[in-house]
Amino acid sequence: MIKSLGKLFIIIGLVTFGFVALFFWLIGQSENLANLSIGTALFSTVLIVVFAVSVAFFILGMILYFVGKRITRNQRPETRNQGRMLACRDVGMDCDHIVYGKNDAEVLENAKKHAITHGFTEKDLTEQFLNRLKSAIKDK
Ligand SMILES: [Zn+2]
Repeated sequence: MIKSLGKLFIIIGLVTFGFVALFFWLIGQSENLANLSIGTALFSTVLIVVFAVSVAFFILGMILYFVGKRITRNQRPETRNQGRMLACRDVGMDCDHIVYGKNDAEVLENAKKHAITHGFTEKDLTEQFLNRLKSAIKDK
């Protein structure tokens, strides 16, 4: 929501900036500046104001865009917290290590690596042992 508002502000900023640039270009094109019979002081004041507004919109838009982006990222705790874990203690070890993974297979892979640090060898990682690990895997 804030992100799209930011995008809108950036567009408004760019469009108004484009108008200012166009005016400057027109001024450059007109050979006789006196043809711009609109009070030049007023005219340049308007240009400066529009220019300032365009820059302000652009900067504000950038800020809103990035703030919005950060909020959207933080608004997805369900995807961020999605994942599984296995506490080493839950399988009977006197160890505070917790193995994480996106899914059970990944947790199991990491658990195998961790098991080796406990002196387990590939040979010890029996079907039965792995099943015990699997049943201890829970949500984060
Ligand atoms: Zn452990």
